[in-house]
Amino acid sequence: MLLTLTTTHHPATDLGYLLHKHPERVFSFSVPMGQGRVFYPEAREDRCTAALLVALDPVELSRGRTGQGSGAPLEPYVNDRPYAASSFLTAALREAFGTAMSGRSKERPDLARQALPFEVHLPALPSRGSPDLAARLFGPLGYRVDARPLPLDPQFPEWGDSPYLDLKLSGTVPLQVLLAQLTVLIPVLDDARHSFVSEDEIERLQRLGDGWLAGHPERDLIVRRALKHQRDLLRLARVAFGEADQETEREQETRVAAPSLNDQRLQAVEAELTASGAARVLDLGCGEGHLVRLLLANPQFREIVGLDVSARELSRAERYLRLEELPPTVRARLKLIQGSLTYRDARLRGYDAAALVEVIEHLDEARLWTLERVVFGDARPGTVVVTTPNAEYNARYPFLGEGETRHQDHRFEWDRRTFRSWAERVADTFGYSVVFKPVGEEDPALGPATQMAVFKRGPA
Ligand code: SAH
Repeated sequence: MLLTLTTTHHPATDLGYLLHKHPERVFSFSVPMGQGRVFYPEAREDRCTAALLVALDPVELSRGRTGQGSGAPLEPYVNDRPYAASSFLTAALREAFGTAMSGRSKERPDLARQALPFEVHLPALPSRGSPDLAARLFGPLGYRVDARPLPLDPQFPEWGDSPYLDLKLSGTVPLQVLLAQLTVLIPVLDDARHSFVSEDEIERLQRLGDGWLAGHPERDLIVRRALKHQRDLLRLARVAFGEADQETEREQETRVAAPSLNDQRLQAVEAELTASGAARVLDLGCGEGHLVRLLLANPQFREIVGLDVSARELSRAERYLRLEELPPTVRARLKLIQGSLTYRDARLRGYDAAALVEVIEHLDEARLWTLERVVFGDARPGTVVVTTPNAEYNARYPFLGEGETRHQDHRFEWDRRTFRSWAERVADTFGYSVVFKPVGEEDPALGPATQMAVFKRGPA
């Protein structure tokens, strides 16, 4: 993948001082999964161009792979990552031009802060979403944008365009600002979902976006994509980017004091389990153990089993619940076990009640019948409490695009009608009755944030 940066400032060769890279030398450095090089295809007084070339090793890349790609079997080995501009390129930008990005230059300190005429060329830039996105992102920042879609195959124009652009930008900006804008916006155009972003990313986005991001007409899209659509990060970002500004302290207080949807859900489930009179309960798909913690605090529940398919979640639960530090009498009431709800499991039989809190949507819809058989057909607790998102309510989340789910791992999110007919069919099939209850804020038209079904086993 390639990026070139040209200036026509006079003398143009000052670019070497600004980038801290000598025009007569090739600068090589390593990047995650590959090699970067900076060199100058032209270095004259009137025009000087620096090129950043990044070569990734496809085999390394397939090894380092996390998360999901397209899902095609050869996708880890055959993909656009080595060729198209992406976060790998911007990581190399940061590595190669760190000093310039911090706005410093030993030899040309004044020039580093000055707006200079620059041209940027990205010959292969993925652009997902509408074709004019590059113009919508760079245009408002004052660049002239020349974005040409690349054909899928130049020999067969009838096949149409690929999702890649040949992008040229020109504008007069300080180098530091130009590099910051490229670093943020290249991955935003790419919108790859397979890299992990952490909370540090918000801080970085704030720093790189200083002075231009907050007022950008596409700010929401930029932030959403830069944070990889992660709900929790987006929530933090909204505060970080000042949307809490208008709130009075009083409002902030109530916002903090109001229980989160997650807390409301857990409380609602605990209330149902308590009301059922259960003493021995199952938390199926317990995750980190938030519900387990509530249940442990209530002596009515004499025996609690938390089950999850993921060993990682179970060890997180051990830490979250501080198992080591629990008094022995409390500790003795709890078992954490690993298992999958898609296989019959004798350990789950004979309990009074079970909770499935935000679990069903993690299974493929086509495989859900296996869970139904295991829980309702074989384990057969007297009470079963199931919660799942209400897809209709997603319209209330401004950061969710059309048809997007609340979490990347969700295989589906159902509207109220679909959940109801699923639950009624399950109750019918396995001899249960079912009632529905709203959880969380309830929109008059869209319904509650979370939907809950409470099943009771009928007479045998
Ligand atoms: N109930 C928890 C976690 C919800 S996330 C809470 O409300 O906080 C969904 C959980 O279901 C994850 O921890 C995941 O590991 C688990 N899970 C997904 N498929 C499963 C399966 N087939 N069997 C058991 N657990 C499963």
